[in-house]
Amino acid sequence: MALIKNFKIQNEPEAKALHNEPQGVFISTYGCQMNVNDSERMYSLLEMLNFTSVPQPQDAALIIINSCSVRERPVHKVHSEVGRYRKLKEKNPGLKIGVGGCVGQQEKSKLFKDVPLVDFVFGPDNIDDLPQLVTSCFVNSDVKLMGSKFKHQDPYHVETLIRSTPVAAFVNITKGCDNFCTFCVVPFTRGRERSRPYKHLIKDIQSLVERGVKEVTLLGQNVNSYKSDCGVCFPELLKGIALETDIERIRYTTSHPKDFNEELMKVSAEHQDKICDYIHLPVQSGNSEVLERMNRGYSRKDYIEKVKMIRNYMPTVSLSTDIIVGFPGETDEQFEETLSLVEEVDYESIYAFMYSPRPFTKAARYEDQLTREQKSERLQRLFKQHELKAFAKAKEYEGQILDILVETYDEKLQNLKGRSTQNKVTYFAGGPELVGKTLAVKINKAFPQTLRGERVTL
Ligand code: SF4
Repeated sequence: MALIKNFKIQNEPEAKALHNEPQGVFISTYGCQMNVNDSERMYSLLEMLNFTSVPQPQDAALIIINSCSVRERPVHKVHSEVGRYRKLKEKNPGLKIGVGGCVGQQEKSKLFKDVPLVDFVFGPDNIDDLPQLVTSCFVNSDVKLMGSKFKHQDPYHVETLIRSTPVAAFVNITKGCDNFCTFCVVPFTRGRERSRPYKHLIKDIQSLVERGVKEVTLLGQNVNSYKSDCGVCFPELLKGIALETDIERIRYTTSHPKDFNEELMKVSAEHQDKICDYIHLPVQSGNSEVLERMNRGYSRKDYIEKVKMIRNYMPTVSLSTDIIVGFPGETDEQFEETLSLVEEVDYESIYAFMYSPRPFTKAARYEDQLTREQKSERLQRLFKQHELKAFAKAKEYEGQILDILVETYDEKLQNLKGRSTQNKVTYFAGGPELVGKTLAVKINKAFPQTLRGERVTL
């Protein structure tokens, strides 16, 4: 079987015929919001080729695994998921299976050898080539196709694609990362950092508003290092979006503590009617030596000072974080410092993971790796400590009246689901005509992850 990297469509009449009939596509998404947004873009691009999304892989003519290599055993996960489709492929040899995302970028053509059922592979920088790649794959069925070239030189001019009219949409503002944290594979799978031009972003967001979007989440590996072609930095971008577009709510993720500055806080306080009262600020560890070995660029003290500054400008802010436990060389005492930092900062939610070595990264070569048992024991301790605290914090919302932007209506339960500006998922009774509206909701009961309330008139 031949391998083609330059996937020009070989036979145009066949390609046209291919897209005359609607066909099903199923995308399985792993990982972060960036990947969720990438999958949405893939669906939108494939819709232009007459593919429609189907809820089950057995109804699909095309299956794409949008993989993530940030956590453990990513290739193994791709392998076992593709294995589950073996029977479908036997029944329908025309079924095409593609692997995108970070594993696609990292493994490239090696995946064809390791997982022979895969027909095509592509990386995050090649999503916009997907229509051509898929068409070529269907037309030239005896070849394996690959698109995983970085496009560092190309201007980063993507336009946000949405299929229906969601209430909330993700908008990429940067791509890639230059930070090289020693545990992270992203700079190797998503390439160097690039920012979208300011004017394009403003236009893009206003056009989403005109299609009914009420809330945008600005996405980047490190949104705080956004720098546009005309020198606009992240706080100025936020200000511009608040003033020059009619968007109702603005969120952003992910922030890097080293680049998080007071100017951003001033803009957030000035535009608190639009900028959400929620910040995700990954700390990764509570110990300064571990942070240094992670190449994070801040100490425990720096981080705590940033948190104080945030609370000074945004007293009701909801904070969340990412934590890695069991980084190579992390001692019991150093881990205790993570526990004490979590206690001190008083997060509403934490996303914690056991360290696992990633290819190409510096930390994977550190000699003092911890055992799985050590890492797992620390993770359990962290979760246990935070569980009760998080629930107690959620309980503080009981009796409060929150502004909830309604995102969806569940017909079966006749329930509305929305989010507060603090990013708390809230359920309450109401009809579908309320989707897209921001309503005052009194919180009656808090659960560990969600809130329940009732609509009130003020
Ligand atoms: S900032 Fe660090 S953890 Fe985040 S994407 Fe960049 S290298 Fe990875």
